[in-house]
Amino acid sequence: MDELERLEQAVARLELALEKLIFQAKAQPVKSGPTKSSNGIPVCSLHGKAMFTSKFKEGQYYCGFKLDDGTYCKQKA
Ligand SMILES: [Zn+2]
Repeated sequence: MDELERLEQAVARLELALEKLIFQAKAQPVKSGPTKSSNGIPVCSLHGKAMFTSKFKEGQYYCGFKLDDGTYCKQKA
């Protein structure tokens, strides 16, 4: 086996490993905690919507949307 062939096989293996990694990254479940959007406002991980600022506690955010069972979402950030 010459050097070039060995290199090509190594590259092919790397590509395969990379593809697997990308697939795993995509397949990962949504994080349970709230995530911050680009403008600094946390986004509810359940609803995917920007949270509201709390009137009671400065710097705290809450989700004002309802869950499937009719109760309010308890996500806070
Ligand atoms: Zn929510």
